[in-house]
Amino acid sequence: MEELERLRALTEADRWIERVIAQREHLPELEELSTLEAELRSLLGALNEVQASAEPLRERYVAAQATSAKLAARVGELERALATSTGSPRDLAAMQRELEQVRERAAAAEDEELNVMLELEPLDETIAAIKERAQPGVARRGELQAALGDLRATLDEEIAALRETRADLAHALDPSWRQRYDAALKRSGVSGAAFVDAGRCDGCRIALSPLDYDRFTHLAEGVVMDCPECGRMLLR
Ligand SMILES: [Zn+2]
Repeated sequence: MEELERLRALTEADRWIERVIAQREHLPELEELSTLEAELRSLLGALNEVQASAEPLRERYVAAQATSAKLAARVGELERALATSTGSPRDLAAMQRELEQVRERAAAAEDEELNVMLELEPLDETIAAIKERAQPGVARRGELQAALGDLRATLDEEIAALRETRADLAHALDPSWRQRYDAALKRSGVSGAAFVDAGRCDGCRIALSPLDYDRFTHLAEGVVMDCPECGRMLLR
């Protein structure tokens, strides 16, 4: 391969590596994933809020249930005692009064239980609805994470192979050119050389002055000038 050809090939190789790296950074799956994660975070926020309002109601419900069960048991006890009692009419009347009081308290506890249950119901429905809405998103997130892992692995392999080719090209290049190329690459990034296209350096996209362009078009065979703007070696 001719020296200038090698320089062109090295420039193309470095640009190709840059494109693949950019592709790796801007995968459409990555964008979808970040949008999806923002949605899931907002759903989680809503879920936590509803759960926080439901929590004290749930505690009240459990307490009301326990009270109501305890009072129902007491009603049963008193009813059995009354049915089998051999006490005086006064004792029986006292038991009857207690039974009525306990029945009233049991009814009040049942009302509380029912009211809290009714208050909880819409909150539980909202919780279930939020979870249902999040479910396909969570599944999609898993798919995207797996797809991104595969894509990145493939692109990393490609980048590694391209870097190997690039190293071979750089190694074969004339040492003085390689030095100039590497210095320009370090300074300007992407590649150490650029092509002149319609009077412009396609590395920095700045047009050469008429004087510089004239110099460029009259260069002696095997001589390469640098872009006055970005310092990249100029190729045709
Ligand atoms: Zn330039």
